[in-house]
Amino acid sequence: MAQIVAIANQKGGVGKTTTTINLAASLAVEERKVLVIDLDPQSNTSSGLGLTAGLPPCSSYELLSGKKAMAEVLKKTALPFLDAIPCSVAMAGFEPEVAAADPNERANILKERLTQPETSGYDYIILDCPPSLGFITLNALVAANSVLIPVQCEFFALEGLGQLVKTMERVRQRWNPGLKIEGILPTMYDKRNKLSTSVLEELKKHFPDEVFSCVIPRNVTLGEAPSHGKPAVLYDVLSKGAQSYMTLAKEILAYG
Ligand code: ADP
Ligand code: MG
Repeated sequence: MAQIVAIANQKGGVGKTTTTINLAASLAVEERKVLVIDLDPQSNTSSGLGLTAGLPPCSSYELLSGKKAMAEVLKKTALPFLDAIPCSVAMAGFEPEVAAADPNERANILKERLTQPETSGYDYIILDCPPSLGFITLNALVAANSVLIPVQCEFFALEGLGQLVKTMERVRQRWNPGLKIEGILPTMYDKRNKLSTSVLEELKKHFPDEVFSCVIPRNVTLGEAPSHGKPAVLYDVLSKGAQSYMTLAKEILAYG
């Protein structure tokens, strides 16, 4: 059975997509079979992996809405151990479409789609969530075994974390009692910046058991690699950014 990890934080720009792409690639380099599912209508994970939903679109939206089967939306990437399901702007229609549906049914759509023979060969399925706590993120939290929460080492970093933790608690009570926190990942850390170090201290104080030992530095390669459609490990494997996500993958594998 695949470990399903949702990368979630309702704040935008905290490193969810960067973490999805580079953690998935690093696990694939470690020869774990990985499937990335882009659930954000902005589709940054898809373009960062050099993928588009194609024409006619075969994306996570078509999978969720039942218009396409898993085999039709799965794509190979440049890494042999890494497959992906891209997203397209059509996903923006998902929330309004399910708004009137039965609350149990609409929360379990992704979970049902992932309970198929095609997914059984993966060690990890990584879900990149949009920056909101709407139905798409809800579906990810219901389908997942754990949630990895990237937190940017900047002012207001902790804002909204309480709301995410509360949402997780609601999901545990109603649909997914086993949902764990995989870890809180400090991102865009700059050791020369006082604010950055104090946010990291604050995080560790509030969530002593949840913060990963691995901290992701602010790094030019991590910002540049997506415009070349490549994860950092393929763009510049020796960069600090690529190396930090390799370290994160090892930390997750060590206790996973
Ligand atoms: P989210 O998915 O949470 O909105 P992204 O992963 O897209 O966040 O990151 C927001 C922006 O910051 C992107 O332009 C991304 O390339 C950049 N970025 C993310 N992490 C880093 C990092 N560690 N160092 C430098 N730039 C980063
Ligand atoms: Mg994103």
